Amino acid sequence: PLSEIIDKSSVQQVQELIENSSQILITTHLSPDGDALGASLGLYHFLKLKKKDVKLMVPNSFPYFLKWMTGSGEILVYEYNPKAAQVIFDHADLIFSLDYNIPKRVGNMASLLEKSSARKVLVDHHLFPGDNYDVVISYPGISSTSELIFRLLYQADRYEEIDKTVAECIYCGMMTDTGGFTFNSNNPEIYLIISLLLRKGIDKDRIYSLVYNNLTEDRFRLLGFTLSQRMKVYPELHTALIWLSLEDQKQFSYNKGDTEGFVNYPLSIKDIIFSAFIREDEEMVKLSFRSQSTFPTNEFAAQFFHGGGHLNASGGEFYGTLKEAISRFEDGIGLYAEKLRNTPK
Ligand code: 5GP
Ligand code: MN
Repeated sequence: PLSEIIDKSSVQQVQELIENSSQILITTHLSPDGDALGASLGLYHFLKLKKKDVKLMVPNSFPYFLKWMTGSGEILVYEYNPKAAQVIFDHADLIFSLDYNIPKRVGNMASLLEKSSARKVLVDHHLFPGDNYDVVISYPGISSTSELIFRLLYQADRYEEIDKTVAECIYCGMMTDTGGFTFNSNNPEIYLIISLLLRKGIDKDRIYSLVYNNLTEDRFRLLGFTLSQRMKVYPELHTALIWLSLEDQKQFSYNKGDTEGFVNYPLSIKDIIFSAFIREDEEMVKLSFRSQSTFPTNEFAAQFFHGGGHLNASGGEFYGTLKEAISRFEDGIGLYAEKLRNTPK
């Protein structure tokens, strides 16, 4: 059986909070990814099965390759209607914060979250959980929040009640936060959970294809362009950088999420252990980092780009030009040269 890693009293408390609530609101982080939506929709569908009044709100829109998920059309997008969002926050008496550690990660939605007098539950796997919560379920050693949602339901003895839809969402989140089980995925219990999800009738091969074999032609050509025209390799530092300007993105009719996963590709190069992707956005420059083995991308992101995340996957922001961001990055890898040279693949 699965080990009970979530503190028993937290499981009990969450169950009581759910039972005693009349309007539940699930929230997740800015630019929701597969895990953010998988965990949120998984819990959302489960609570619906339990006939709870539940809503799911995200700060801004999410990529097209996640729109196949059941219920994605019911998700409220804060940015589209902040006034309506205010009303929903006013009525909620229980709020879940899934896959983020602090209010800042929900952008402009943070003030509604902070002002709300609802009971609050955090379920997350990032370091440094915030303290404004009634219950904190934070396990940075677990590779996805979706896995934590599964564990929460399982420990609450609700496995039997999980249906195929809930299972699909949870599987999607576990899959995307581990790059299709290629990183952060050595915990044997992950595969025990997958087995328990498969018993619910999910088609894992189909889910993989819906997420990863679903590129538009423009997006596929943009990937080719990025790897051939916008990549610099620093062989002695075992580092590779890819970047895209706004102009580049316009040329390929860029849509939100179109570059999701690009940062992983340079890790396919022999001896590369650190990969960075720098994308010029309207108001800032967005950075994504990935590494193999022990290189701490989150430390790097925090030190140079006000960011953070996990050891092998993190991100940050830069306020300035693309060129300045690249030069800051190069200064950064210069300072980390020793570590980069000596980290084995
Ligand atoms: P991605 O590269 O997929 O956008 O982000 C990977 C991970 O890095 C996210 O799951 C999140 O934990 C972290 N992350 C990305 N951007 C930021 C940021 O601007 N600030 C912080 N603190 N973490 C970030
Ligand atoms: Mn996550």
